Order: sequence, then C-alpha cells, then structure tokens
Amino acid sequence: MFDSLTDRLDDVFRKIRGHARLTEENVQTALREVRLALLEADVNFKVVKDFVERVRERAMGQDVLKSLTPGQQVVKIVHEEMIELLGGQAQELDLKASPAVIMVVGLQGSGKTTTCAKLALKLRREFKRKPYLVPADVYRPAAIDQLHKLASQLDIPAFPSTPDQNPVDICLAALEEARRSGHDVVLLDTAGRLHIDQTLMDELAAIKAGTNPGEILFVADAMTGQDAVTVAAAFNERLDVSGIVLTKMDGDARGGAALSVRQVTGKAIKFVGTGEKVADLEVFHPDRAASRILGMGDILTLIEKAQTDVDADEAAAMERKLRKAEFTLEDFRTQMRRVKKLGSLEGLLKLIPGMSQVRKQLGEVQMPEKEMGRVEAIINSMTKAERATPKLINTSRRERIARGSGTTVLEVSQLLKNFTQMQKMMQRMMGGKGMPSMPKMPP
Ligand code: GDP
Repeated sequence: MFDSLTDRLDDVFRKIRGHARLTEENVQTALREVRLALLEADVNFKVVKDFVERVRERAMGQDVLKSLTPGQQVVKIVHEEMIELLGGQAQELDLKASPAVIMVVGLQGSGKTTTCAKLALKLRREFKRKPYLVPADVYRPAAIDQLHKLASQLDIPAFPSTPDQNPVDICLAALEEARRSGHDVVLLDTAGRLHIDQTLMDELAAIKAGTNPGEILFVADAMTGQDAVTVAAAFNERLDVSGIVLTKMDGDARGGAALSVRQVTGKAIKFVGTGEKVADLEVFHPDRAASRILGMGDILTLIEKAQTDVDADEAAAMERKLRKAEFTLEDFRTQMRRVKKLGSLEGLLKLIPGMSQVRKQLGEVQMPEKEMGRVEAIINSMTKAERATPKLINTSRRERIARGSGTTVLEVSQLLKNFTQMQKMMQRMMGGKGMPSMPKMPP
C-alpha cells in the first residue's frame, strides 16, 4: 500500500530535514518534488495543484522558516494537509435504523461481493451486530453462489435469492425476512456492469427508493487509479452515496485513487480492502494513512490487528496448558495459524515507524512465512495422537510424515527437536506456579 509514493516522499523529506535553515527556495524545490511524486502516484491533477498550493501558503511563513526545526515544520504541514485531503476524521457507519440497511454498489469486478462478506464479518466481530447478507446481483453468473459460499464459510445467514427474481423484490423480501429473524443489519450486494449504464443506475435507484438504506457504499478497485475516481463521481451523482470502499489496496503501490477520491467526490473513504481473505478489511483512518504515506508507520493499526479475534477464554486455556506442560503440537499449529491471520509479516513490518527504511536496507531478506508454511505442512501430516504425544514419532513415522508434507526426515526431526526445546524452556519460565519465575539476577 502506497509503497512507491512513500519512497519518493521519503527522499524529498530527508533532503529538507537535512537543512538546519531553510530558504524559500529550498521549500519551493521540495514542493516541486512533492508535486511530481503525487502526479506520478496518479493523483488527480487538480487535487495535486490545490494540495501543493495549501502547503505552500502555510510553509512559506516566516514562523516556519525562522523556526528552530524548519524541515520538521514543513513535514508536519504536509502531514496535516494530507490528513485533510484523505478526509480528516474517520467516518462511522450509520447503523441507526433497525434493521440498518447497507447497500453496496460498484462496477463488476471491483470487489463488491467480497466486500459484503468482509463487512458482515467485521460487523459481527467488532460491532457485535447480527448481519444478514442479501445476494441481489442477478446478472453476473455465479455472484449469488459466491456470496452464499462466503456466507456459509463465515456462518452468517444469507437470503435465498435466485437469478430469475427481480432485484428490488429480492431486497424488499430480504428486509422483511431480516426483521422477522431478528437481524439488525442487512447488506445488499447489488449488480454491477463493466461500464456505467443507465439501466443499472435505474435499478440501483429503485433499490435505494425501496429500502431506504442508511449507507450506500461505493466499492472501487484502487488499482484502477483515476478511473475509479471518475466512476465514483458518476455513481455519487446519481445515487448520492454515503461513503467509499477502496479495494485491492494491497496491490496499489501508488495511491492515486485513495488520495483523489475524497476531494473529487466530497465523500469519505470508509473502508479499505487489503487482501483477498475475509478478514482483510480495515476501517479507513485518514490520520493513520497519512502517517503511512509519509513513512511514519501506523502503530495503532498494528495494535488493533493483534487484538482482533483474541478470545479471552482461549488465551486462559492456552496459559493453563503451558503451565502444565500440556501444550501440544496441535496448540502450536493453532497459534501459528493465528499469527498468519494477521496478514503478511512484510505488511506488519510496514506499520512500525521507521521500518520502511530498515526494510529497504535489508533488501531481499526471506520473510519467515515460507518456513511457517513448511512447519504447518509437517504438523498437518501427523496423526492426532502424534500431535498430542510427539514421543510416539519414531523413525518410520518420521519418514511417513516427511513424505506426506513434501519435506525431509531431517526437517521433521528438526521441528520435533525445536518443539521439545521450546516446551522445556516454557516449563522453566512458567515454573509451574502462579507467576512466571524470572531467572535470578546476579547481585
Ligand atoms: P464483484 O464483481 O464486484 O462482486 O467482485 P468480487 O467480489 O467477485 O471480487 C473480484 C476479485 O477481486 C476477486 O477475485 C476478489 O478476491 C478480489 N478482491 C476483492 N477485494 C480485494 C482486495 O482487497 N484485495 C485483493 N488482493 N483482492 C481483492
């Protein structure tokens, strides 16, 4: 996300921070480079012009240039203006109605169906809501099936629509069903087209009129850059959308759509899709995104990621097991899967301030994901009994496990050795008592 833009701006700011004193000339040069970096990132031309103008006005003042840290002041101004450009405050969803209706619209392939499922999961997990999914895309073949599949994977109920039904009828019947079955938020996955067309817009307007949604979220593929912005403006004109979801931010190194869409449409980005998995949807925080773009990291998102989905009961059970040396390879695998769910380690590193630079210096270092995949494959090839009692795993079993996981006997043995060592170490640390006992410090 934003990688190439971050790199470019980082160079500009390093130069400007290096000066003990700044002249108007220095600032002009830096702003020219900022302008170029934004244009290269495919930010809308007019948005860039206004942005640079606003920064220039504030940065040229004597209080900035004569201050003790002029370079930092300029960076601070860019940061503040970027937060504004991205929308200022994070925008909440309007979920007041009962059931609250969220209508999801956008072109075909933008990620609507996936976003509906992701959003439903988020609403249940973080907002403690009872979501109901409604497949109302009767044109794209398999769209209804796709949403049903995702729904059953997440164990979230979905309305049993069929392609021969009228979309408005589907939405109205689904709303009735949600009311009857006690669901408090309804997500309408509407049809898209490859291009904007009148019939589609009429249909969406009819759904809007019939269901009176609290939210109309326009979904756009961030990788399409300025096209996404143009389409957003067209949808907004006809439907007066309430917010924007930018998908595929994981593949968008430039950030042109993210930086332009708010200014061009006047509507806030509410969520961003950051991967293909159902958990890959983040609330969009303009301040955090601005920090990320300027290479300052994003600690808050990192903490939130680590906290999502931590179940207090499960954590307590794990602790008990560790204490009693009952932590098995099965538990080990569960923990490893949990770490994997946080997303790529590469992505996590970027959230730590200053890490983008460190990462660059490290070059092509192997991230541990591959190793984790191998370890998981080995554990998967064991029987339940073997996972519970690794001592059972003799030579012939090791050969079988290596074959089953596409690894070598050596790798299986190494994993078992590491696991035994880890168990011993944990035992020592936990001391079998209430508090972990720390090694004694020499007096
Ligand atoms: P729809 O036609 O608008 O309903 O689009 P889909 O929901 O079927 O999504 C189209 C494709 O984009 C699918 O292959 C999704 O997995 C993929 N996709 C959706 N959101 C994201 C995202 O945030 N990141 C990535 N990498 N892929 C995504």
